[in-house]
Amino acid sequence: MRELLYILSPSFSGSTLLTFLLAAHPEIATVGELKASAIGDVESYRCSCGALLKQCDFWRKVKTGMKKSGVEFDFDDFGTHFTSGPAWFRRLVRLGARNPLLSQSSSQLLRIVPFCRSRLERTIGQNRILIDLIASIQGGRIFLDASKDPERLTQLLLSKQWKIRVVHLLRDGRGVSSSYKKHHNVDMKSAAAEWLRTERACVHVAARMARKDVLTVKYEDVCREPQRTIEEIFAFAGLVHGISVNGAIPESGHVLGNAMRLSGGKRILLDERWRTELLPCDLRVFDAIGGDLNRRRGYM
Ligand SMILES: [Zn+2]
Repeated sequence: MRELLYILSPSFSGSTLLTFLLAAHPEIATVGELKASAIGDVESYRCSCGALLKQCDFWRKVKTGMKKSGVEFDFDDFGTHFTSGPAWFRRLVRLGARNPLLSQSSSQLLRIVPFCRSRLERTIGQNRILIDLIASIQGGRIFLDASKDPERLTQLLLSKQWKIRVVHLLRDGRGVSSSYKKHHNVDMKSAAAEWLRTERACVHVAARMARKDVLTVKYEDVCREPQRTIEEIFAFAGLVHGISVNGAIPESGHVLGNAMRLSGGKRILLDERWRTELLPCDLRVFDAIGGDLNRRRGYM
């Protein structure tokens, strides 16, 4: 059974930086976010190697390999994302991760209703073929999926196709909410509520796994002590030999994800811009929504 390492976190938690650090290990194969849901305009999207996605040699090999396997594969739609399709189907998939009371009913329904079952089976199959192909091209034993979202992890776990270990990546909720607020142009109330909702779902999904298969890591520690943190993750993943980090983001791989993917070679810097960007009123709004959970995690 192939081993999967999954980064679980809300968006804007530093998962792309962590992916780059882990991808430098020769036994890890990865393309970052395998769900590939945020590519947008495929004509202008750049792979982390700097080439346009459509012109990158690695991605060309992937496309040829998928064609040989007899499955449809397009850069516009990898066919690997679970929360696509009709709205009611997406809602059902979301319920499985976000609502502890309804998660069992949701997973039962998804496996009973023929439309849902065949859609799920097709997506699982597409993920399996793509993961095996990427691992064979890159030569890695463990596949790292940095897709982050708890809905996806829920479906990967239920499929029982992989031996899955999870790195639950935490970041100060004020930092996550500040980035979310800027990126999506929403107010602090919506940003903090989204962070809290996603974090609760992450905790809920992780709680259903064996404790030995979940490792909690803080983004701030990744930045302050990258060597110690990735060694801890490598040991958790059963990787004997490590790599050394020299304080810079390694330049390697063909990674999909946010704009951070084009930062190879730059220094690893802790992003705490929220400390100056958030107004006192934003901090009060955050505190009322997510202050408790944030403090329990040591963010004072
Ligand atoms: Zn590339």
